[in-house]
Order: sequence, then structure tokens, then C-alpha cells
Amino acid sequence: MKIKVLTLFPEAYDGLKVGILDRALKADKFSLELYQIRDYSKDKHHKVDDAPFGGGAGMLMTPQPIYDAVMAADPDHACRRIYLSPKGRTLTQSGVVSLAEEENLLFLCGSYEGVDQRVLDLTMDEELSIGDYVLTSGDLPCMVAINAISRYLDGVLGSEESTSEESFSEGLLEYPQYTRPQEFMGLRVPEVLVGGNHAEVAAWRHARQLELTEKLRPDLLKKDRK
Ligand code: SAM
Repeated sequence: MKIKVLTLFPEAYDGLKVGILDRALKADKFSLELYQIRDYSKDKHHKVDDAPFGGGAGMLMTPQPIYDAVMAADPDHACRRIYLSPKGRTLTQSGVVSLAEEENLLFLCGSYEGVDQRVLDLTMDEELSIGDYVLTSGDLPCMVAINAISRYLDGVLGSEESTSEESFSEGLLEYPQYTRPQEFMGLRVPEVLVGGNHAEVAAWRHARQLELTEKLRPDLLKKDRK
């Protein structure tokens, strides 16, 4: 997969390059191209923002630098183009899986009070939010999306890590997990997990998943589950 990101803060993406994602990028499991929107500004001072028509607080990103950056990054519209925005559809695990099936993704990260609507209408396919709260720029949301998507790409997770049997993979939260020692501060690992009976372990885990989901996220049980 090729991922292109249009941003005013390309340096922020060094934060993505740790652990599993660092290994995956170095092994070319996916690629990340960063475009500094300011480089595309035709303003002599490389300005990328201006006051909103009609008044209001703050500044907006002007359309020209974004338009030119999108055309440079994706001239043939080969990418699914996504503007990170609190107004967008909320990112979910099934949304992540759908994005992971794309060959080419382009993310536009807004800053200031947002982006001139015309350049969004002209260039973007959709808007994506990471939740009902407002951040200062689209960069953290973009990194959240890239991190979640990359876990579904071939060869990114090692054989010991897996996207199955984790929270949301079947519309349920994950069961509680335990490791050594078998007893810690007087608390023992549930007997069934050390008994070696795989069917009993599976049944115990499924029951705990249902119990936990009912308690912590009953909304998930009301949705259609795969
Ligand atoms: N004035 C905008 C509004 O009320 O919807 C918020 C603009 S926000 C301060 C600046 C940028 O951060 C946005 O253009 C968007 O790219 C990004 N952003 C902020 N919160 C976000 C969220 N929850 N999900 C995705 N992107 C977000």
C-alpha cells in the first residue's frame, strides 16, 4: 500500500516510526510519502491561511496550496482521498479493514480552524473523524488511522501478533488475558486457562467476551455482528 499525507507538520510523522511500524516501513510493507502543503503555496511568503469570509474566530487554510499539493501527490486520482475532520464519519475497526484493502490512500490534514470548503469539494472523496472531540490539526488523527490500517497489511504483524481474537474483531471486546506467574499478589490465573483443554478455554473466553461487552460496551451487542 502507498500512503500519501498532505500536512503542515511532516516532522510529526517521525512519531509513527517506532516499533512495529518502523520495522514495517523499513521492510517496505507499506510506503509513506509526506507532502508539506506550504511548499505548494504561490504566496511570496508561503502563506497558507487567511481570515474566513463572514467573520468568525481564527484562520482557515486557503484552497490554492492544498489544491496544488493534491494534484502533485495524486495527479490521476489513483488514491482514495480522505480529509481528516471532526465532521467526518467516525473511524471504526470495520472502517479500518475497508481502508486496508485500498492500494493507494491520500490523507489531507487540516490545521487552524479548518479548510476552505471549495478545495474539499474539488479534491476529496470523504471525511473521516477519530471521535467527537476537536484537535488542533489532522495529524494525530492521520497517524491513528495509519497505525490502525497498517496492522491489517500483509507482513506487518509478526506471527505472534494477530488481528483476530482482539477487541472489535467479532464485534466483541477481548477476553481477559493472563501470563506468568500463575499467582500474583494472591490472585490466581483462572484454573481453566492452565488445564490444557482447548475447547474449555475457548468456551470460557467467549463467555467472558460476552460478559465484558455487555458490561462495558452494550452498544456493540446491539449492532449486527459478523
Ligand atoms: N473548526 C473545525 C470544526 O469545528 O469542525 C475544527 C478545526 S480543527 C481545530 C483543525 C483540524 O484538525 C481540522 O481541519 C481537522 O483536519 C483536524 N481535526 C480536529 N479534530 C479532528 C477529529 N476529531 N478527527 C479528525 N480530524 C480532526
